[in-house]
Amino acid sequence: MTPRRVVIVGGVAGGMSTATRLRRIDETAAITVVERSGHVSYANCGLPYFVGGVIEDEDDLLLQTPERLFDRFRLDVRVDTEVVDIDAANHEVTTRSAIDGHIESMGYDTLVLSPGAVPVRPPIPGFDRVRVLRTVEDAERLAADVTGRPATAVVIGAGFVGLETAENLVRRSITVTVVEAVDQVLTPLDPELAILVAAELACHGVRVETGVAVSEVTTDGITLADGRTIPGELVVGSIGVRPDVRLAEMAGLALSSHGGIAVDEVNRTSDNDIYAVGDAVEKPDWVGGGHSLIALANVANRQGRRVADHICGLPTRGTASLGTAIVKVFDLTAATTGWNEKRLMAAGRRYRVIHSHPMSHAGYYPGAQPMALKLLFDPGDGTILGAQAVGRDGVDKRIDIIATAISGGITADQLADLELAYAPPFSSAKDPVNMLGYMAENVLSGACDVVEYDELAALSGSGWTLVDVRTSQEHEGGAIPGSVNLPLDQLREELNGSNGPFVVYCEVGQRGHTATSLLHELGMEARNLDGGYRTWIAADAARRQEPLCLVKRAL
Ligand SMILES: Cc1cc2nc3c(=O)[nH]c(=O)nc-3n(C[C@H](O)[C@H](O)[C@H](O)COP(=O)(O)OP(=O)(O)OC[C@H]3O[C@@H](n4cnc5c(N)ncnc54)[C@H](O)[C@@H]3O)c2cc1C
Repeated sequence: MTPRRVVIVGGVAGGMSTATRLRRIDETAAITVVERSGHVSYANCGLPYFVGGVIEDEDDLLLQTPERLFDRFRLDVRVDTEVVDIDAANHEVTTRSAIDGHIESMGYDTLVLSPGAVPVRPPIPGFDRVRVLRTVEDAERLAADVTGRPATAVVIGAGFVGLETAENLVRRSITVTVVEAVDQVLTPLDPELAILVAAELACHGVRVETGVAVSEVTTDGITLADGRTIPGELVVGSIGVRPDVRLAEMAGLALSSHGGIAVDEVNRTSDNDIYAVGDAVEKPDWVGGGHSLIALANVANRQGRRVADHICGLPTRGTASLGTAIVKVFDLTAATTGWNEKRLMAAGRRYRVIHSHPMSHAGYYPGAQPMALKLLFDPGDGTILGAQAVGRDGVDKRIDIIATAISGGITADQLADLELAYAPPFSSAKDPVNMLGYMAENVLSGACDVVEYDELAALSGSGWTLVDVRTSQEHEGGAIPGSVNLPLDQLREELNGSNGPFVVYCEVGQRGHTATSLLHELGMEARNLDGGYRTWIAADAARRQEPLCLVKRAL
């Protein structure tokens, strides 16, 4: 039998996962991987850390070489070679060598496209001077710039890669400004969590300008839309990416409404012999049920493996994507899974919210760190719709548990029943995820009536009394304006005949829950402020765009 000829375009996450999986299940296939850059299977997620010198040796980024891939997998890997045309009718691609311009035609039975995404380059005057960070070659250029010891840098865009780049430039003793057109950093987070990240950046000397666009890149920095100028000997653009669909368009493949390559549940394009994976394609969305563009390494690798299976006729299952992502920003970790509140609200989806501020492990064991956790779920059946977390320790574990719970169809209240590993250095007997489950149970059953921070003004205006049930020392250290202090332990005595209705709050919501239960038992109307003072102060700082006020009590 003639061996199956498979040509794969793009030799990194999705492309290389397809190629190696394919070889493991089909020893006879003729597999060619065509890669435009000079490297295959490189760790693009590690590029910011190479710029910052955390990863010292460039070779550590290069996980494989064409030679090693040939030796182990008999892959024909062609680097510095670009696929410049696809003739889908005749099952042929045309390649051009970046070294000598040699043009070659290559036939295929099956073509797999994994060309990734291209950085967004807005039509701003002077943007051609802006560095981007996408390939090893980009990182080499940026690292070379940095060795010239620039004093100042501007990073345009406060997404995951932008913030990683900012941190790594600070590591190189550069004074960094991050400029973000929308009014918060890290848009996958909701504002009251994102502001904690902005505060961390401020703590480390990074100037953060949100809610203002760059209007021009000049020879010595940038000009903002409001006319201010910011010095930047180095300017890095991290405005986001869009699917690279140039080859798909050449081949006449259908595109999605989001601008990615349209694929079915097994990643087949509108041409039965062409598959597409990774950043270039739209993905089924776990939460919304439609499709989304999600540019993450895990998803590209998963899809590559499934495509190899499907090519070889193995049973495959297409899985939807949650968009689970994580980033380190100096000493903080921020992570997210599923949809955030802004997106749920924009989609008109019904949801409930829980904020909590647990410790990363038992408070009595040294080193416990607070974190901010937010869970979003369906008020009807408890389906988990999303979660976010920011903290110094234990964030990754909690978001991964919740992502796993979502994938397994575990509802918000069922988080209470998860049996999770516990010893004092690692967690608490009631893990923060279990606690979210208890809280969700209370909300879903109606046992606890909670109020969100953005509902406070309306309730105060309609006669509700805002009661701070923390101690008088805590109250004096900072309280929500207009609140009266009735510490929980004296609440029974100090009501003085007042019958409410009350909105109760404490530091994180726990004492508030006990106070609300007590007031209910006494026959009064009372609601507990979700996430307590700590969530309120973060939300208030986000509303006022003042991360600096959080620096001392960020979490
Ligand atoms: C700096 C940086 C940091 C990141 N950090 C993270 C992270 O921490 N976590 C995470 O989940 N994701 C991260 N990502 C995203 C992740 O790297 C991508 O989601 C993933 O690599 C996508 O895989 P892919 O195969 O679709 O595309 P890529 O891995 O980008 O591979 C596409 C390859 O195709 C090649 N190519 C394109 N067109 C052609 C052509 N015509 N001919 C030949 N070759 C072509 C390109 O040169 C490129 O090498 C990061 C990305 C970057 C750039």
